[in-house]
Amino acid sequence: MSEIPIIKVEDYEILDVELEEDVLEKNRRIAEENRRKLDEYRILCIDVMGAIGSGKTSFIERSAEKLKNKYRIAVIAGDVTTTIDAERVSKHSVFSIQVNTGRECHLDANMISKALKELDLENLDLIFIENVGNLICPAEFDLGAHKRVVIVSVTEGEYVIIKHPMIFAEADLIIINKIDLADAMGVNVEKLVEDAKKVNPRAVVVKASMKTGVGLNEALKALRLEG
Ligand code: MG
Ligand code: ZN
Repeated sequence: MSEIPIIKVEDYEILDVELEEDVLEKNRRIAEENRRKLDEYRILCIDVMGAIGSGKTSFIERSAEKLKNKYRIAVIAGDVTTTIDAERVSKHSVFSIQVNTGRECHLDANMISKALKELDLENLDLIFIENVGNLICPAEFDLGAHKRVVIVSVTEGEYVIIKHPMIFAEADLIIINKIDLADAMGVNVEKLVEDAKKVNPRAVVVKASMKTGVGLNEALKALRLEG
């Protein structure tokens, strides 16, 4: 059996590396401004990341439903073109803003800065940001949120965590979603939990089904939103 040739791309070979560093530096600065502003208004902000179909909107809907009598909540929903998620969330009488990113496959701090200007910050306690469905570049763009959640569904297969280490390494909470489908998918949930803990020993890992509500309380406790 012959060895598979591997081409390792080094930093200096990436064509727009200088541009990218500049973009990331600007992003960092605006993210800090966002966080300062949120702190000034005593608002907790949570960045929810994950692939398309992993359950980001369902998690936010369930959380909003559960917490809306306790906190004044708003949702900033990121998506390339649609307003489906913001509409879903607003059915729970939670104020929501859609950010359509166009060509961009992630939200950045500048988009969040614009969205914050549309919100009545005096009258909010909690903001959920639903990031664009993507497990790669949202990891690089701090939005100014206080906590980062990554949701992953068992339907994404058994290698999904080890193939996206960066985003999981940045998470405070990792939710393994759709565990009710694990048997049908032939996926070992415990193996996913193990991978998550290996990639990020600091994160809380919760097994959940946002369809049935299993794991929701545990997730909200990890975010210190429930006692
Ligand atoms: Mg969604
Ligand atoms: Zn992107």
